[in-house]
Amino acid sequence: MYDIIIIGAGPAGLTAALYAGRANKSVLIIEKGSFGGQITYSPKVENIPGFLSVTGNEFADKLVEQVLAQGAEIECAEVLSIREMGTHKTVLTDDGGAFDGRAVIVATGAKHRLLGLDKETDFIGEGISFCAVCDGAFYEGKTIAVIGGGNSALQEAILLSDLAKKVYVVQNLDFLTGEKKMVDQLNTKSNVEVITGTTVKALLGDK
Ligand SMILES: Cc1cc2nc3c(=O)[nH]c(=O)nc-3n(C[C@H](O)[C@H](O)[C@H](O)COP(=O)(O)OP(=O)(O)OC[C@H]3O[C@@H](n4cnc5c(N)ncnc54)[C@H](O)[C@@H]3O)c2cc1C
Repeated sequence: MYDIIIIGAGPAGLTAALYAGRANKSVLIIEKGSFGGQITYSPKVENIPGFLSVTGNEFADKLVEQVLAQGAEIECAEVLSIREMGTHKTVLTDDGGAFDGRAVIVATGAKHRLLGLDKETDFIGEGISFCAVCDGAFYEGKTIAVIGGGNSALQEAILLSDLAKKVYVVQNLDFLTGEKKMVDQLNTKSNVEVITGTTVKALLGDK
């Protein structure tokens, strides 16, 4: 029986494990993919206090090392369900595992919605990004396409316009769905071109 079972070993799950370990709790972390979660896709992380610059993988390795040093155990499997047993919970995994814990922390993160195009996943971190605040600096002086026309896309486009040579906003509908205030702000940017009624069909490139 573990004090705490943590599902997901992204930065959130690993940080939870760190604090649980420091509180002398027995901890099991269950991860279905790569330890470090989404941050392992990032070639360069520059907003983590204490690190001038670090790759996502290096950061994840350090976190895992720190968590293991605190006594956490790890299990590579996908969690399929959690059973409430009254005094504790039983976590069931795809490889037939069953783990008992007094408490369960779900830190399964978020998934980006992909376009479903060829090469899309190969280019994540190599030209495709999901976060202008995180990755915008890598595209300084370059031409960027922001796919989408809602608030998130417009916010990212506005931010990117301050550092990019040119920003295209590509929207499948015939109009932008973001708030008027944001559309107005976008329209003041001379290096932004909005393309509506257009669906992205392919991503070209070799690396
Ligand atoms: C290309 C890229 C660059 C980025 N750059 C930066 C940056 O520079 N700075 C920054 O601050 N942020 C950056 N981010 C964002 C950052 O990676 C996320 O905010 C962070 O990873 C979220 O952490 P999390 O632990 O909540 O979730 P995640 O990282 O998504 O981790 C969740 C984990 O749970 C696992 N999981 C899910 N379901 C199950 C299940 N059923 N069973 C077992 N395991 C499961 C997943 O495999 C995953 O490993 C970047 C993201 C990407 C994609």
